[in-house]
Amino acid sequence: MTTLDAAGVTDPGQVRAQNQDTFFVSGELVLIADGMGGYAGGEVAAAIAAEVVEASFAGNETPTGLESAVLDANRRIFERGVEPGLEGMGTTLVAAGMVRSDGGTRLLVANVGDSRGYLFRDGGLRQLTEDHSVAAELVRLGRIDEGEGAEHPGRHVLTKVLGVDRDVEPDLIEFEPLEGDRLLLCSDGLSNELDDEHIASLLRVGSPSDAARALVAAANAHGGLDNITAVVADIVDGSASPAEPSTMAVPVVLPRDRTLSTPAVARSAPALAVRPVLSRWERFLRRREDLRRRRAYNKWVSFRGVVFLLAFAAVLVGGFAVLRWYGTQNYLVTLRGDRVVVIQGRIGGFLWWHPRIVLRERYGPGQLPTQVRPGLFQGIDEASFADAKHFIDTMHRQWAIAHGLITVPSTTTTTPAVSANFTTTIYVPTTTAPRTGGT
Ligand code: MN
Repeated sequence: MTTLDAAGVTDPGQVRAQNQDTFFVSGELVLIADGMGGYAGGEVAAAIAAEVVEASFAGNETPTGLESAVLDANRRIFERGVEPGLEGMGTTLVAAGMVRSDGGTRLLVANVGDSRGYLFRDGGLRQLTEDHSVAAELVRLGRIDEGEGAEHPGRHVLTKVLGVDRDVEPDLIEFEPLEGDRLLLCSDGLSNELDDEHIASLLRVGSPSDAARALVAAANAHGGLDNITAVVADIVDGSASPAEPSTMAVPVVLPRDRTLSTPAVARSAPALAVRPVLSRWERFLRRREDLRRRRAYNKWVSFRGVVFLLAFAAVLVGGFAVLRWYGTQNYLVTLRGDRVVVIQGRIGGFLWWHPRIVLRERYGPGQLPTQVRPGLFQGIDEASFADAKHFIDTMHRQWAIAHGLITVPSTTTTTPAVSANFTTTIYVPTTTAPRTGGT
């Protein structure tokens, strides 16, 4: 069975007090994480990346297993990035796993950031990963050449980091591992100090552990401006050489020889040792934007809630008003006992609105014209109390006139013609059908 014989070395370098790089090696998986952000953040982010990827990949050693392990790590770091002192923390991650599928065993490299994966095969060195830095993107776009890219101030500004955003898309590089292949994973503290030729020469000899030590020592000797980490893994056929079982290696930290340290000022660009993935200012802006978005969301939620409640209340009130209008705004001229009455409401009531008598005349149906009497038994609808009252008065007056009980009022100066007109307009001819109801 094809497996990895791997060893790793990490060192804080000659300038940094802390080491925010970390690595993990086993027979199935090797990885490097180069953390960044705050005093503690970088170390925490890198540690989470290593732990989560290792745990998540174990038992799910497939191409999708490695990718989802990386996404798990991203999520975990992002979630913990809200804790005080850990705000905006992130890490690079380059991980190589032996993945099993129908096609046999393959090697899958997942990458986020500017740590690197190299394949050393048949004496030649090939960089497997692409850096996710501003300078590297510009080189890929053809805006600047590689020489310019190596000096570009954007070479330390990452375009992709694990744990800084909710989502991340790692680059995935898969290939068939061959016996004798040697894999190198390293942080930028190594690749910034050593060129490919130098790296290849140190990979050519010795065990993985020897090669890793030699690489880190060389980077330190060259300046060691950043934390330096190297993981060297040989592809071996485990069934052929059952020698020692691969286990998780305890990070080998080279003893620091301060006398070898090169003063930072001696370097051409010491400022580049500071690696602002997100500057303090950018982090501040991002955090503020995040807060604002959250606040806007809360505001939106409560605003929507209020609008909903108001709309709901309006529907209730509106519906009630309509029902009340239907139940009460109706006037009926009818009879109660031997009296002519006006009832407000519906006959028999409607919901909790009961009909009530709002006017009781002193007379009965006998003192209204004959033709309206059948209608009174059923009830004659009127739109308002005034209409109802007007109807009764008019009818009663007609009856009184018809029976000679009153004479048409010749109100002061009005002419007889007007009086006659008045009489004819209000008189319901006996030949016409009853005004309402009844047959
Ligand atoms: Mn670094």
